[in-house]
Amino acid sequence: MTKIKLLDQDAVNKIAAGEVIERPASVVKELIENSIDAGATKILVEVAEGGKGLIRVTDDGCGMDREDALIAFEKHATSKISGAEDLDRILTLGFRGEALSSIASVAKSVDLVTKVKSEDLGVTGTQIRIMDGKVVDVGEVGSPVGTSIEVRELFRNVPARRKYLKSGRAELARIVDVVTSYAVINHHISFELFSGNKTLFKSVRSESWNDPILRILGSDVARNLVPIEAESKFVSVTGAVGRRTITRSSPDWIMTYVNGRSVRSRALSRAVTEAYRTFIPTGRYPIAVISLRIDPSMVDVNVHPAKMEVRFLREEELAEMLTSTIQLALSKAEEKESGPQQMKALQVTELGVSEGEGEADEATAVHEPAVTSRPIESAEEGYGAATEVQRTLPLTSGGGRLDLDLESSPLPGGLRVLGQALLLYIVADGPEGLVLVDQHAAAERIRYEMLAKKYTSGTISQELISPITLELSPKEVVMLEEWGEVLEEMGFEIHPFGGNAYHVRSIPAIGQRLESPEAVHDVLRDLFALGRMGTEATAKDEILKLLACRGSIKAGHEMAWKEMHDLLRELFACENPKTCPHGRPTTVTISSVQLEKIFGRR
Ligand code: ADP
Ligand code: MG
Repeated sequence: MTKIKLLDQDAVNKIAAGEVIERPASVVKELIENSIDAGATKILVEVAEGGKGLIRVTDDGCGMDREDALIAFEKHATSKISGAEDLDRILTLGFRGEALSSIASVAKSVDLVTKVKSEDLGVTGTQIRIMDGKVVDVGEVGSPVGTSIEVRELFRNVPARRKYLKSGRAELARIVDVVTSYAVINHHISFELFSGNKTLFKSVRSESWNDPILRILGSDVARNLVPIEAESKFVSVTGAVGRRTITRSSPDWIMTYVNGRSVRSRALSRAVTEAYRTFIPTGRYPIAVISLRIDPSMVDVNVHPAKMEVRFLREEELAEMLTSTIQLALSKAEEKESGPQQMKALQVTELGVSEGEGEADEATAVHEPAVTSRPIESAEEGYGAATEVQRTLPLTSGGGRLDLDLESSPLPGGLRVLGQALLLYIVADGPEGLVLVDQHAAAERIRYEMLAKKYTSGTISQELISPITLELSPKEVVMLEEWGEVLEEMGFEIHPFGGNAYHVRSIPAIGQRLESPEAVHDVLRDLFALGRMGTEATAKDEILKLLACRGSIKAGHEMAWKEMHDLLRELFACENPKTCPHGRPTTVTISSVQLEKIFGRR
C-alpha cells in the first residue's frame, strides 16, 4: 500500500486558509481591505466574543452583482488582477483572490448581502449563505448599496486552530489594532468598531490623520504631530511624526504603510527611530505615521502570507531619505516654537489652559491632561530609594569617604564603597575581593521585595494626592477590561470617566515618580504590553517586576556616595540579594586570586 496520498479538496482549502486566516483579526483585516478596495467611504466592523463568535463588516462600496458575488467565494477569484503580468502593478490591497474562499472554508457560516449601485430602481440586493464552505442558499434581498459580510463561528471545524485562539478580549485587542491601523491611513473613510454593545472606536472621514490619531492616541498626541512630506524619483512619503517630547516605551506606535497597506518593515522603523536618536532616551520610541507611495515594482508585498512584512529595492536610500525628512521636519517645528511662541506656550500653560489650536473637539475639552509633559530628563531618570539624598558629597575622594564612614552604619561583610564606575556599577572593596554591583539590578531587587511584601500584606495601594485623568486608546480600554481585577489587586483604582477617559485614584506605592499622568499611563501601557502572558499568578509577579523596574534607578544615573552605601545596605537586607527579579546577577566579585592572575602575579 502506498503511504503517500493526495489530500482531498476540503483539507487542501483548510490548510491554505490557515496561512491567510490565522485568527479573527485576520478576517477583519481581509474584509476591511475588500471594503477599501470597493471604494467605501464608511466601514462598520461589528464583532462578538473577540470575533470568535461573530464578525460582520458592512461597507457602502461598489457592491457586487449576483454573478460576481457567487464567484467571489471561489479560490483565486479576483477582480483586481487578470494575470501574472499585473503582479508588478498592484495598487489594490487584495489581488490573490484568496480571502473570501479561505474565510468560507474555516467558518461555520458566512452570510453575504450585497448590492451594486445602479440607475435601475428595480435592482435588488443579493444574499448568499455559505455553510462549512458550501453555498447553501442564494436569494434576493432588499439592501442599501454596498456589501455586508457576516462570519460566524470561526474555526468551528478546525479545532487545531481554534485551540490557539486567545481569550475574547485578547483577540478583540488585536482587532482593535487592525481597525485603528486602517483608520489612520484611510482617514478619508469613516470607521466604526462595535463590540459588546458599545462603540470601541469611531473615526470621521477627514482630510488628515489627525482625526483618527486623536481618537486613538488622544489630544495630547494629536496636538503634537508634525507633518512630513518628501518626494523622490521612485517614492513619495507623507505622514506625521510626534515631537521629541512625546514618546512611548514601545515601538508599537511607529505605524508604517506602503501603498495604503499597513506593513512591518524593520528598515522603515529603524529609519524613523534613527531620526530621534540622541534626542529621546534609549528605550523610548517616537510616534509616527509613515505613508509611502511607491512604484509597486519596487516593493515586494508578497513575501509574507498575510502580506505583513515587506521588502524594498534600494532600501538604504529609502531609509536615509526618511530619516533626514523627519529630522528636518522636527527641527523646523522646533525652530518655529522657540522665541515668542515658547513664551506664549509657557504663559498659557501656567493658566492651566491648553495650548492647542482650540479644536472644538469634545475629547480635547473634556480629557485635557492636567499636567503638561515634563522635560525628557526628569521623565526618564529613574529614582531609587535614596533619591532624596543630597548630592553635596564628593563622589570618591578619600578624605570625604572617611568622614562618611563614621556617619553611616557599616555594610555587612565588611564591604566598603569605593565609588561608581561607568555610571552603572558601584565599586566596593571587601574581604572576598573587588565587588561590582549593577546599580539598576540592585535597586530592582530591593523594590521588588518591598513591593512583594506590601502586596502580601495588602498595603500595596497608595492613594494619589489628586486623582489623575487618563485618555486611553481604544485598545487600552479593552486591555483595562481584561486586566481590571488583577490591576485592582495590584493597587490600581481606576474608574471610567466618560468616553475613553479614566480616573485613576490609587496606584501601587512605588514612589513619588508615578504621580504624573504620563508616568501612570506609561506603567499601564507596559502592563498591557505584558498582556500575552499566561496565568494570573505569573501575571501578578510580572507586574511586580515591572513596577520594581519602573521605580528604580537606571544605568546612567550618577550616584552620591551615601546613596550607593544605602543601596548596598538595602540590597544585603534582601532575601535574595544575589539576583535581580529577572534573574540577572546584581553583584560580581573579583577575587584577589583572579586579580593576581590578571596582573601576572601568579
Ligand atoms: P481579492 O481581494 O484578493 O481580490 P477576495 O477573496 O478578498 O480577493 O475577494 C474576491 C473578490 O470579491 C474581489 O476581487 C472583489 O471583486 C469582490 N469583493 C470582495 N469583497 C467585496 C466588497 N466588500 N465589495 C465589493 N466587492 C468585493
Ligand atoms: Mg481581498
